[in-house]
Amino acid sequence: MDCIFCQIASGKIPGEILYQDEELVAFPDKFPQAPVHILIIPKKHIASLAELSQAETPIIGRMADVANQMARKKGVFGRGYRLVINCGKEGGQIVPHLHMHLLGGKQLPGKLA
Ligand code: 5GP
Ligand code: ZN
Repeated sequence: MDCIFCQIASGKIPGEILYQDEELVAFPDKFPQAPVHILIIPKKHIASLAELSQAETPIIGRMADVANQMARKKGVFGRGYRLVINCGKEGGQIVPHLHMHLLGGKQLPGKLA
């Protein structure tokens, strides 16, 4: 198993796990782009949003729920924050394991391009 996020999710890489349950794990991004930058991932290896089966789509709602919990925990819930899922090459996805970015703690840029 050479997927870095699978290794983090299974506890093989020592690091700061902020949240976990039977299905999901949340941990800080190694190269944060904002004061709060947390990644929420499924434990199951799903390569990207495009690889998610229809039956698996409820996991996105669960990831958003965990993101809300993390936003509360990090004190940005009332200030505003952003959830991002990059998908595929032109979507800017680098790590091929489905993940949701929680970004906050500063005024985020309004334009993507
Ligand atoms: P992507 O561009 O695929 O949506 O985002 C991948 C994110 O994973 C990037 O923000 C990057 O900083 C983060 N990342 C890459 N490798 C590691 C790692 O080994 N540990 C952690 N915690 N984050 C990582
Ligand atoms: Zn993986």
